Amino acid sequence: MSPSPASTAGDPVSNDARWRARVRKGLLDWFAEHARDLPWRRDPTPYRVWVSEIMCQQTQVATVVPYFLRFLDRYPDAAALADADESELMRMWEGLGYYRRARSMHAAAKQIVENHNGEFPLQYRDALALPGIGRYTAGAILSISSNLPLPILEGNTIRVFSRLIGLRDSVDEKASLDTLWDFSEQLLPRKFSPTDRARGPASLNQAAMELGALVCTPRDPKCLICPVAKACQARAAGLQAEIPAKTQKMKYEARSEYAALVSDNQGRWLVRQIPPGTRFAGMWDFPKAGPPDANDAEHFHQWLTNHLGGRIQLDEVVKTMKHAVTKYRITLNVYRATRTGGPKALAEPWKFRTPDQLKHLPMSTTGRRLLNWVEKNQFS
Ligand code: SF4
Repeated sequence: MSPSPASTAGDPVSNDARWRARVRKGLLDWFAEHARDLPWRRDPTPYRVWVSEIMCQQTQVATVVPYFLRFLDRYPDAAALADADESELMRMWEGLGYYRRARSMHAAAKQIVENHNGEFPLQYRDALALPGIGRYTAGAILSISSNLPLPILEGNTIRVFSRLIGLRDSVDEKASLDTLWDFSEQLLPRKFSPTDRARGPASLNQAAMELGALVCTPRDPKCLICPVAKACQARAAGLQAEIPAKTQKMKYEARSEYAALVSDNQGRWLVRQIPPGTRFAGMWDFPKAGPPDANDAEHFHQWLTNHLGGRIQLDEVVKTMKHAVTKYRITLNVYRATRTGGPKALAEPWKFRTPDQLKHLPMSTTGRRLLNWVEKNQFS
């Protein structure tokens, strides 16, 4: 294979059918030999691929595998998922984060039962109409499970495709993404038997993603062992480190949040179920607030008093925890606190729960970390 000069001559290399055929063959041959043995690849039904695709969004494959196996064991099909108890579903999802994904799957499963006889729809439009399923996910599920010729574009393929075609423009721009979607479509096998998964879109799409995960990595791509190195325009130009280009750098903001550990005389912890419409809705957490409800410790004290009634005393900070959410770098300041006076019965949604009870309830990420810390340190 030799790199085509077409990309610099006004006629993109992606328009060269012979170049595309070489890339396609390189990817398919490589995938046949190097594909990772992942549980959803062994029996790629639309339902199983759907679950894997949703779980793998924003989450590493190695993390997903045990979650996937547990999930399929508990909810083997869309009907079982549609019937799931939401609290149990959230507990199953706990640790994967981005809980909206689980809620959307739950809603989608109900629609699949209601409108599609419990079977994941194989029509692209029907799949796209389900909650939580966009252009990429619909294409991935239907191509991987059913070998349908649908393009895909996600983090890995944005990187692999833009390097292959030598795309110098920023991939933050819509025009670049349009170019990459077009390339993804052009790269799909032209002639294949619907039952030949090994040479069809099912393998081609997975091969491109797999190459991005294992070889064409964001930093230090392994060009020396890359099966499409000779066709790669970024490599030919020595631009692997510059492509894909980005214009917008995420700007992080520091943010302080506050939490309180309040126990009763039976060793139970004060918690609440997070109200709908907010992050981690439906999950359980210790009393916790941040801006604009709590801009500093004094403000947090006021927030606690308003919510719990009685007299609240904030003692010392017993732990600080750092974590990141979207653009925020959050420092969570955890106070030991006591409540005296006021009505004995707490207003909804506040409850006292034992550590054992909390083990069976879905908790926010920091809530679970805090509970584990409390238990490990035998804090009471
Ligand atoms: Fe990626 Fe290098 Fe392969 Fe090009 S040659 S696709 S930059 S790993």
